[in-house]
Amino acid sequence: MGKAIIETGWNLDNSYARLPKSLFTSLNPTPVCSPKLIILNYLLATSLGLNVRDLQSKEGVEVLAGNRIPEGALPLAQAYAGHQFGHFTMLGDGRALLLGEQITPLGERVDFQLKGSGKTPYSRGGDGRAALGPMLREYIISEAMHALGIATTRSLAVVTTGESVIRETDQPGAILTRVADSHLRVGTFQYVSEWGTVDELRVLADYTLQRHFPDIDAVESRYLSLLQEVIKRQAMLIAKWQLVGFIHGVMNTDNMAISGETIDYGPCAFMDAYDPATVFSSIDIQGRYAYGNQPHIAEWNLARFAETLLPLLHVNQAQAIELAQNAISDFAELYRCNWLAGMRAKLGIFSEEIQDESLIEDLLSMMKKYRADYTNTFRALTFDMPEDTVLFGTPEFAKWYELWKVRLDRQKELKVSSQQLMRNSNPALIPRNHQVENALESAVKQGDYSVMERLLVVLSSPYEHSPEQADYSILPAPSSRPYRTFCGT
Ligand code: AMP
Ligand code: MG
Repeated sequence: MGKAIIETGWNLDNSYARLPKSLFTSLNPTPVCSPKLIILNYLLATSLGLNVRDLQSKEGVEVLAGNRIPEGALPLAQAYAGHQFGHFTMLGDGRALLLGEQITPLGERVDFQLKGSGKTPYSRGGDGRAALGPMLREYIISEAMHALGIATTRSLAVVTTGESVIRETDQPGAILTRVADSHLRVGTFQYVSEWGTVDELRVLADYTLQRHFPDIDAVESRYLSLLQEVIKRQAMLIAKWQLVGFIHGVMNTDNMAISGETIDYGPCAFMDAYDPATVFSSIDIQGRYAYGNQPHIAEWNLARFAETLLPLLHVNQAQAIELAQNAISDFAELYRCNWLAGMRAKLGIFSEEIQDESLIEDLLSMMKKYRADYTNTFRALTFDMPEDTVLFGTPEFAKWYELWKVRLDRQKELKVSSQQLMRNSNPALIPRNHQVENALESAVKQGDYSVMERLLVVLSSPYEHSPEQADYSILPAPSSRPYRTFCGT
């Protein structure tokens, strides 16, 4: 394997590779037979300091395919554990490799990871590979999340490998390049807590503090602060998911990032009709990860995180447990504050009144009762243009609407400011399941990427409310079968 040329803009460091050896396994990607670039995120590449032209060159594509190791990379698979649907198990990067951390022109450090790059010691019988459809799906949804203003891992590129992967049918193989603030997971801490030493745990916690929370690095009670900050970030993240109707689908502890980014786009999807019981994932039979359960699951996952930190919180175990419990008990209120603030903004409300919560809840319960589309209902309210739907025709809604208008009149802000707040808080569109499926079908079955490219353009500015976006808000024809997403991608 050769070295990539310097002009590509690589500026890689390898702080993770300097952590205790038990945390990872060093290995190179497994080369693929005939890599081809399918999509490259120009803006992201540029912000990372990478040269777009060089990434598109033969050498650049070889890097994105794992056939060539860029200058400064030390590829490794990260070890982690996790609770999958409540059951604790050893996991790790089974089909991904961290090439290193790119130091961007702004001095930020981001992980550069190949997903689908071949088997690792953590593959557990899997083939280490990924299929084109799911990798493009992650690209579309993660980039849509970013544009919606939600912390997420990013997608830099997808290449096809020229090899097929066997799923239910033969699929074109692909590799996604994923960029993240880090890939530290709740499961990383669980792994060290279960199988490592307290010294290793401290090293991991110190590393996390330095990397994500440098301001609290020097604080005496810094491990408690770490816990509190991670709780805060998750409270904010999950509130944002709820506010746009995003359902992650597989909120196992290994899929919860310490950085507060949305990570591991598997069977995720956006809710259409508002219903807290909405589940898309075919394997989530119990509805553990249903839309309405996400805040509770986040709290449960954070409690698992807190448990791993106990030896660092206090020498006295009872006191450590008390500190952890107090921190966890803050989550519900932190989440509620974030969610309420976001909901007020969605309704154009600037000030805070006690009754706002019931105003919001009343709207949501009507939306549930009349199966109103979540995104389109808020969009219609934003433009004060009730749609021809059951909800808007009911006397119940008319009554609510009057109360809402009176509420807006009570605040000092002008109507235009209120509408601007709503425009900025209610997306014109989300990645609708049927549109994502259409884009993927054209791409994978016909090799036609134009549908996906157009979708990516409209999704890149969801708060623009442009005429081109209107077509993308049209709901699919009612189907007798509920939309289903699948794991095992
Ligand atoms: P996920 O459900 O995507 O979060 O993955 C759970 C675990 O399975 C992680 O450890 C993944 O690395 C691993 N995994 C998923 N797909 C594969 C695959 N095709 N080959 C090897 N490991 C995999
Ligand atoms: Mg995962």
